[in-house]
This record gives sequence, C-alpha cells and structure tokens, in this order.
Amino acid sequence: MTTATGRLTFDSLDPATGAVVGTHPVQDAAAVRAAVAEAGTAAVWWAGLGWAERRRRLLDYKAVITRNLAGIAAAVHDETGKPEADATLEIVLAITHLDWAARNAHRVLGPRRVSPGMMGVNIAATLEYRPLGVVGVIGPWNYPVFTPMGSIAYALAAGNAVVFKPSELTPGVGVLLAELFAEAVPEHGVFRTVTGLGETGAALAGDPGVGKIAFTGSTATAKRVMAACAANLTPLVAECGGKDALIVDEGADLPAAADAALWGALSNAGQTCVGVERVYVVDAVYDDFMGELTRRARKVRAGEDYGPITMPAQLDVIRRHIRDAVAGGRAVLGGPESVRAPFVDPVIVEDVPEESASVREETFGPTLTVKRVADVEEALEKANASAYGLAGTVFSGNARRAVELARRMRGGMTAINSIISFAAVPSLPFGGVGDSGFGRIHGADGLREFSRPKAVSRQRFALPGMNLTSFTRGQKELDRLVRLVTFLHGRQKR
Ligand code: NDP
Repeated sequence: MTTATGRLTFDSLDPATGAVVGTHPVQDAAAVRAAVAEAGTAAVWWAGLGWAERRRRLLDYKAVITRNLAGIAAAVHDETGKPEADATLEIVLAITHLDWAARNAHRVLGPRRVSPGMMGVNIAATLEYRPLGVVGVIGPWNYPVFTPMGSIAYALAAGNAVVFKPSELTPGVGVLLAELFAEAVPEHGVFRTVTGLGETGAALAGDPGVGKIAFTGSTATAKRVMAACAANLTPLVAECGGKDALIVDEGADLPAAADAALWGALSNAGQTCVGVERVYVVDAVYDDFMGELTRRARKVRAGEDYGPITMPAQLDVIRRHIRDAVAGGRAVLGGPESVRAPFVDPVIVEDVPEESASVREETFGPTLTVKRVADVEEALEKANASAYGLAGTVFSGNARRAVELARRMRGGMTAINSIISFAAVPSLPFGGVGDSGFGRIHGADGLREFSRPKAVSRQRFALPGMNLTSFTRGQKELDRLVRLVTFLHGRQKR
C-alpha cells in the first residue's frame, strides 16, 4: 500500500543536527477515515460519561502529563531544537489550560435555564452546549504541546473525541501526547494521533465524519483547509500567525519594555505566532529605549539562549526579510550574515519603510524592526495597518491610556506592560482577525467553539386566550397581543 506521495514512512529530525529522532507512518486517507470512524464511536462513549467523570479523567490526564514533564520536554527539544527550559514552559502552560478546561466545562457548557422574557411567561427556556462529535486538530511545530493543547483540551472537555494531526516536523510529540492520554483513559481511543505530511491533514479536513477542524499554521494553508472543509460544510477555527507590534509610550518602564521586546522577538528563535516582529516607539523615549534594547540584545546568543530555526525552508524567508530590511533601513544589530543555518543571531533594524516585506509579512525569525513615531496615535495607526491581527503589546506609564490603546489595537489579544501574558490566563480567549484567522480557543469562548448550542423551550401551561400559533386564533387574541407589545415596546425610553 502506498500513499499519493508514494511514501510509507517519514523521519522526524533534530533541526540542530539533522539526526533522525523518529520514524512515523504516513497515514493515508483510508487510515484517517478509519481513525475518525473509531473516534466517532469513542466520542459517543466519552459524551456519555458525563461532566463529572470527564472532568476526573482530564484531571488524571493532566497529572500524567505533569509526571512526564521532563520526558515530554525532551521530545519537544529533540524535534524543535528549542531549549528544554522553554519546552518546559510551554508544557506548564498547556497543563494550566487543561486544568481550566476540565474544571470549567460543566459551568460554561452545562444546561441552564434562561429567561423566556415577558412574551414567554408560560415557557421554560433552557440552553446547553452539546459536543460536536469528532474534532480534527491540525497542529503546528513551533509550540507542539501548548498550541494544539489549546484546542485538544477544550474540545475534550466539551465532550468531543479528537483526532490530532501534528506537523510533520513534530510527529513524535503528537504521538506521545495521545499515548499519555490513554494512561488516563484506556477504554477507548478518545484522543488519537494520525501522522503524515500535508495530505494527511488534508484528508482529515475533508473527512465527512469530522464535526469541526481546529487549524494552526500559515494563512495560505488555512485557505486550503477551509476549501477542504467546504465540501462537507465542516466548520473551522483557524489560527494563522501574525505580525504583532509592540508600542512604547512615554513614561514606560524602558528597561522592562526593552526586555519584553527582546523576549517577544527572540524567544523560540522568533517562531511564535504572537511573537513581537515590529516595535513603534514614541519620539520622546526613542533614544533611551534603543540604548536599552541594543545593550541587552548584544548579550543574546542563538544556540544558547534560543534554538535553531525548526523548519529549514523558513531560513529563506528570514534571509529575504533581513536583506529587505537592511536595504531600506539601518541595521542596529546583525544583518544578512546573522543567518548561519540552522541558527539565526538576533537582528534589529530601524527605520524600515512600512511597505517593506519585512514589515508587512510574517518573518517567523529572531528579527525586529523598530520605528520612531511622533506619538501613540501614529504608533497605533502603524501597528494596525497590517493584514494580520493576532495580538500586540503596549508599554506605557499611563494605565488609562494603555488600556485605551489596547482596546483599539487590531487583534484578539493585547498585553500591557508584560509580554504575551494573555496566553497564560486560561480564561481569556485566544485568536485573531483578518489574515490571523477566526474563531477562538482558550477560555469559555474556546469551550463553546467546540460545541453547538442546543435551545429547548418547554411550554409549562397554556395561556388562556393567547394561542397565537394556531389556525383557531381569532382577532381578539391578536388585539390582545398588539396591546401587550405596545405596552412593552411602544414607549420611548429616555
Ligand atoms: P503550514 O500551515 O503549512 O502547516 C501547518 C499544519 O497544517 C501542519 O500540521 C501541516 O502538516 C498541515 N498541512 C499542510 N498542508 C495541509 C493541507 N493541505 N491540508 C491540511 N493540513 C495541511 O505551516 P508550515 O509548518 O509549513 O509553516 C509555514 C509558515 O506558517 C511559517 O513560516 C509561519 O509563518 C506560519 N506558521 C504559523 C504558526 C502559528 O503559530 N500560527 C505555526 C506554524 C507556522 P505538515 O507539517 O505535515 O505539512
């Protein structure tokens, strides 16, 4: 049996050394179909367990992950090249989300009575959120635990089974996550992983047995996934990266802002969907900020403080953006020579024209463009002038102005005087607008994303003389209705 690519297996590599760290099957459309069908059976069992038992099992899974933290971090390090300390951090965040989803699913999604309103005094109205069945999760390689778990944990807590297709760069981590789940839930394959290349993901997106796809990756691939979903009207939540900006306002704590900008830009070698790629600094503090930034940046080393570029093809994008940036702006630190594959040293370029590819397109590398602006209004205008709209950061000494800026910043999340702090708050939804995608993972919105609302209206008693949905209805009943609606809604409110 061969797949369309003619390959039966593929290797996952250590991006720092090129060593093979695992070999996995390329699962074809038939294998994906079988996995989805089996997950469908498991989904019925899982949904039937009820809120309390699912919560217990998910908390067990959380404990299994926590006990295996070191082993998972090693697997993440092997396949992404990131330092184990950073891998540990992303796993801890995933644990926090799993815990929140498990503990809050019943409260957010469980049946509740809602007010029927004056027109429905004889109706008992209830609302609940039912699972979708099988959720297909197509994951990225940059945070192979934290990012997919943002969908997997919430989908499971909502009562769905999950079929997970990890990136071909991090299949071992994906397999491990499902294996560990089976320790907490051995009875049925409620969470299973399928491995393969892009076509395995395409098969999952196009499978009619899938109730929803949660995709994280590039905007271009999201469009292909959406087209595959269209065949079955399968809904999609898409998280597609960004070109996030950090704004430095007057009165900001400049050492903290510089520290945050650097972490946001360089950690994980810049391969972070909510990483900082652009900085806008108001004129009054520009020189001091740049002093802080460059002094700190000189001490950061690729290969020590952060790992290699995980996806080899990304090096071409990074190289192109660096060349583009230094051609139009002034290199403050590094330049084209900073790319020494598979590592890229920090690159900071100032005054790059806003229409440059390095300012407009996602770089996904350890680079930063910095721009001097007259005031925060100009900073906001430039920050928002992007096809992307995922997240952003504001550093300011004025809390009120910072909150106002954050609210007006295009994108789903903004951190103030901190970096990416929203990702660590499980009750906050996560997702973008525009080319950054749509839909939300995390929080109550993330739980609802993986369920469908079910509305039930039960008539408790018949309203005498008010049977309006009957062919026996007379003019008197209609007159009564008009009098009532005029009383309720006909007066002008001040
Ligand atoms: P892709 O968008 O190509 O891949 C993301 C996931 O989709 C992977 O699991 C991939 O599988 C899968 N996939 C690929 N083709 C299809 C398809 N036709 N149907 C269904 N699933 C598919 O991202 P890349 O990994 O190639 O990275 C490219 C760029 O995407 C990066 O340079 C970066 O800019 C952006 N990106 C953004 C991320 C984010 O966090 N938002 C994460 C990762 C990348 P496979 O790996 O097997 O091809």
